[in-house]
Amino acid sequence: MISFGPVSSRRLGLSLGINNIVSGKFCSYSCVYCQIGNTINRSTERRTFYEPGKLAEDVKNHLGKLDKSYRPNYLTFVANGEPTLDINLGQEIRLLKKYDIPVAVITNASLISRKSVRQDLMQADWVSVKIDTVDEVVWKKINRPSVEMDLKIILEGVKIFASEYRGSLHTETMLINGYNDDLGQLEQTALFISRVHPKTSWLSTPTRPPALKVIKPVPEAKIIRAWLIFNNNNINTELLSGFEGTNTGYTGDAYSDILNITAVHPLREDTMGKLLENDKADSSIVESLIAKGKIKRLDYNGKIYYLRRYKG
Ligand code: SF4
Repeated sequence: MISFGPVSSRRLGLSLGINNIVSGKFCSYSCVYCQIGNTINRSTERRTFYEPGKLAEDVKNHLGKLDKSYRPNYLTFVANGEPTLDINLGQEIRLLKKYDIPVAVITNASLISRKSVRQDLMQADWVSVKIDTVDEVVWKKINRPSVEMDLKIILEGVKIFASEYRGSLHTETMLINGYNDDLGQLEQTALFISRVHPKTSWLSTPTRPPALKVIKPVPEAKIIRAWLIFNNNNINTELLSGFEGTNTGYTGDAYSDILNITAVHPLREDTMGKLLENDKADSSIVESLIAKGKIKRLDYNGKIYYLRRYKG
């Protein structure tokens, strides 16, 4: 299935995820903190992943199966990769709007200097762009972009998009211990973001298992310092550091729910337990998915998580 959840999102309330990138992860970045692992297909080329009508039909069927209490607040493009690599994104958003639920896109913004990408994002009601740093050297270390990319061009694209877009624009900055969390870095990042005028700037630090095991979340004191620096730059800043809760949507098919959610969103042990309960399934399905090599179990910061496994 292309859609999954809905899952509780710290930014969007109840969000029905739309994974518009086919299995295997296509992204222009390979962020050291990526929760879905290293990028297998690093690319900047936009392409067709699904036929737009099929994607819209999949979402419609999914919405039809949900209990009324799980009607999502947003339909959110949050893929196993970068959603703007999908050349049909704009058309898909237009089709989804017929369901009378606002559409959100969470993008790494790496392709936003292209007019076609901005035009596609313009269709969405809510857009969040990733700005982890404005320093080229740090950007290469954290986001590990495709070689042909240039941070200055991306940041220029973000500014153009911000000046054109009439929807709800947000930014997201992932703070990584020892990478982008020193005073000078934070001042520069905050200054740039203040010029983009986002409705909210979200600060987060890895709470789920990252692509590189050595990556550590920043200590609480540093998160607060970053929050103060952003606030001093007149940015409406919020922290994305709390656990989202275990309120995950379900379809009655535990096998598909687990595979679809873990493709983009590691499931914490307690959330998995709740999902199994809702789907009237038991833990044998989890053990069977692990035995088949479809998902893996991982210990991170004292908590157990389940992630999708990909070959390659
Ligand atoms: S965190 Fe997002 S932008 Fe970074 S590699 Fe993962 S999918 Fe791509």
